[in-house]
Amino acid sequence: MENCIFCKIVRREIPSDKIYEDENLLAFNDIKPAAPIHFLLIPKRHIDSLSDVQDIHQSLLGKMLLLAPQLAKDRGCENGFRTIINTGPVGGQEIFHLHFHIIGGRDRLPGMIHSG
Ligand code: 5GP
Ligand code: ZN
Repeated sequence: MENCIFCKIVRREIPSDKIYEDENLLAFNDIKPAAPIHFLLIPKRHIDSLSDVQDIHQSLLGKMLLLAPQLAKDRGCENGFRTIINTGPVGGQEIFHLHFHIIGGRDRLPGMIHSG
């Protein structure tokens, strides 16, 4: 995906504040953090969104879910954190390359969704 910002980060065409990398996954700090800890965990291979995952992604998704708490705890989120996957226009997704937001570093994060 030539013009995808996160693919460009994977290819190091644009810089990121990287916190983890392996063969399949990359994690880096969000450029506009919503809390003291706010990083993004992405697959290196482009997937548009959580709506686009298939059976072949099962192991990759499992790895992401297993890694998220490890990275969060490494960064001091012993008492919890929030994992958000915005999906599609309704979910407020802005970057169409699958990513988990991992957010924490406060005693208590604010409530998430307001009715009305
Ligand atoms: P979304 O709304 O798609 O779930 O969230 C996209 C996130 O990516 C936002 O929190 C935004 O701050 C972050 N972001 C957008 N562009 C960049 C970038 O170039 N570098 C980094 N590190 N984060 C970015
Ligand atoms: Zn991409």
